[in-house]
Amino acid sequence: MNKKIALLPGDGIGPEVTDSAVKVITTVAESFNMSLEFKEALIGGASFEKYDSPLTDETLQTCYNSDAVFLGAVGGPKWESLPHHLKPEAALLKLRKELGLFANIRPAKIYNALINSSTLKKEVLEGTDFIVLRELTGGIYFGQPRGFDKDRGWNTMEYSYGEVERIARMAFKLAAERRNKITSVDKANVLEVSQFWRNIVHEVHKDFPEVELNNMYVDNAAMQIVRNPKQFDVLLTSNLFGDILSDIAGMITGSLGMLPSASIGNKYALYEPVHGSAPDIAGQGKSNPLAAISSAAMMFNYSFHMSKASELMEESIERTLAAGYRTPDISSEGSILVSTEQMTTCVIENFNEIFNEQALGVFTL
Ligand code: NAD
Repeated sequence: MNKKIALLPGDGIGPEVTDSAVKVITTVAESFNMSLEFKEALIGGASFEKYDSPLTDETLQTCYNSDAVFLGAVGGPKWESLPHHLKPEAALLKLRKELGLFANIRPAKIYNALINSSTLKKEVLEGTDFIVLRELTGGIYFGQPRGFDKDRGWNTMEYSYGEVERIARMAFKLAAERRNKITSVDKANVLEVSQFWRNIVHEVHKDFPEVELNNMYVDNAAMQIVRNPKQFDVLLTSNLFGDILSDIAGMITGSLGMLPSASIGNKYALYEPVHGSAPDIAGQGKSNPLAAISSAAMMFNYSFHMSKASELMEESIERTLAAGYRTPDISSEGSILVSTEQMTTCVIENFNEIFNEQALGVFTL
């Protein structure tokens, strides 16, 4: 198997964590006898410095020619005062739009070794493993009309049949590969657009009768994520609700340096850590590479359909944490403080160890 990965390291700690991810990706690909081609391109502030634009056609073309896009992070104080369309963050929004990435996946999975550093009780968290599937290109963030005048401000929450149908279908497919359970989150007791959403989700359900479907109002879902997160498997929701719920779900299980994400469309997919460019620690070897490595694990699963490789990568992270290794952002008493590079090396060593232990020399791809 041969796959092309577009690498967009970006700004601040983006290049450091991308470098870590590439090292792990390369190790995994070698173990699975897979050949990879990396093509690097500029994005964000780094691109603005060279081309006066945060996202060039050349970078977009690199992405169009790829099987998967891997992004570090963009932004930094140097570019904060630029006009909105030239800011590094504008590149991200444009990229997601150009690649048609309508679905965002954020896992909420607890690493056992970090369970005591959560703000929630161990008993509540243990066994938590769900994904938030957020519709990313529709809803109130894009609906028309929008605006404000002296007396009023307004936005429109709108979904077309096709927009809901395709995200619902993806949710059912993902659930079928997991524990066969979907919770569709809406506000159908108040909003017509939510009733419309709910009707379509139920229609799509007919094609996946083996998957259990529940509906939940968004206010209740916010409570339930904190009260009993174990109950969820795939939490399907719209753009606005997903924006909020994915942050709640992420935070119950770890720190910002641990959170991966995938944004997926019909043709393209983008993988990136949830965190930003962390200018306060850039270039100091302090950044936590695990969110980036975990995003790479999602890439193996969703873009390359290599779930075994993805699982082994996650296991390598778990084992590294269990051995006590911590970058400063997640360190605690008794842990072994390591740099970005050392953490990456530990993950690679653990990957090789697990791979050999399982004596799985030959995998079917
Ligand atoms: P941030 O995520 O960059 O940092 C917030 C805090 O978390 C900082 O203290 C930082 O040191 C820490 N942190 C973040 N990632 C870490 C990691 N991997 N390891 C260790 N510590 C980590 O958020 P911010 O400070 O609000 O934003 C900084 C810049 O990043 C801004 O320009 C912002 O617009 C941009 N940003 C980009 C993205 C993206 O590229 N997807 C996302 C969010 C923010």
